[in-house]
Amino acid sequence: MKQVDGEKLLASLGPGVNELKGRLTPDAPMDRVTWFQAGGLAELMFQPHDTADLIAFLKLLPEEVPLTVVGVGSNLLVRDGGIPGVVIRLSAKGFGQVELAGENLIRAGAICPDKHIAAMAMDNNIGGFHFYYGIPGSIGGAIRMNAGANGGDTASRLVEVEAVDRKGNIHVLANADMGYSYRHSSAPEGLIFTGALFQGFAEDRAKIRADMDAVRHHRETVQPVKEKTGGSTFKNPEGHSAWELIDEAGCRGLMIGGAQMSSLHCNFMINVGHASGYDLEYLGETVRQQVFEHSGIKLEWEIKRVGIFMPGREVKPFMGQVATTA
Ligand SMILES: Cc1cc2nc3c(=O)[nH]c(=O)nc-3n(C[C@H](O)[C@H](O)[C@H](O)COP(=O)(O)OP(=O)(O)OC[C@H]3O[C@@H](n4cnc5c(N)ncnc54)[C@H](O)[C@@H]3O)c2cc1C
Repeated sequence: MKQVDGEKLLASLGPGVNELKGRLTPDAPMDRVTWFQAGGLAELMFQPHDTADLIAFLKLLPEEVPLTVVGVGSNLLVRDGGIPGVVIRLSAKGFGQVELAGENLIRAGAICPDKHIAAMAMDNNIGGFHFYYGIPGSIGGAIRMNAGANGGDTASRLVEVEAVDRKGNIHVLANADMGYSYRHSSAPEGLIFTGALFQGFAEDRAKIRADMDAVRHHRETVQPVKEKTGGSTFKNPEGHSAWELIDEAGCRGLMIGGAQMSSLHCNFMINVGHASGYDLEYLGETVRQQVFEHSGIKLEWEIKRVGIFMPGREVKPFMGQVATTA
């Protein structure tokens, strides 16, 4: 049963939408966007042509319509009832560029793949970006999640971020405004990041190449990178590794429906066939419950869960068996 109605929402926005240059897709299937290849429909997806187009769209959008921003969906679990309201997905044409912006400075659009920054940095003897080589997301997602790996993270390289708020106003946020901590930014939730400036340092190309090769080799050895996955499911709790807690709780390889905790890296959840959003979230909450029972530690989701449940297919935090506000 369809729980969102994109055509109705689109019609309610009025004739101003005909002036937009970007693509509007009612009832857009999110399983084509997410790495999990699971989840329901986005009620109305908008892919703005450029920043001016994004602002023009936001000015047409009534304040009460919910708005969700997505990048390339590598850290996203979409529930089966879909995402009510508008989903913004920046277009590669308008927001995918990466360029040098001064000595050891790189500017990138928010849908630019992290890997492209790593490659541009290497080609120009700029160190500090090799970690992006192994992260399959976009720069917008990296800014929001403080994406990091192999000793580096977004917070340590970011100078400033360009963003547009819900009302269509442009903001420039300095690194200090982003409120960064481990895999988290406390920047206001409603902001749509459109691009960012990064600072690296002079480094020999051969050293950068070697670091990038090491990143790739490590990942291919220990992570199920060729599977339908969302990367690390849970954050590492202070002083612990999430995967060790999951392993000790007996959840390595645990399978529910078409969803499984990877046997290769048990903090990675994978869609082994035709998992639904429900299967994936039910598995995740089961793991949280079992880890809590075993260790007393409450794992926190790193993967972002968005959208609404199908009626009768709701998943409770910790399966409703542990008192929580999470
Ligand atoms: C195989 C694999 C390995 C991974 N390894 C790592 C790793 O080593 N380190 C790591 O940190 N992550 C890792 N990830 C997770 C993921 O790649 C990162 O979190 C990435 O930064 C998410 O970017 P995305 O474009 O896919 O964002 P999405 O998954 O689409 O969205 C993630 C969040 O970012 C927000 N967002 C995205 N774009 C914007 C924007 N323009 N403006 C505002 N908000 C935005 C979304 O609203 C959502 O809250 C891995 C994932 C996979 C599948």
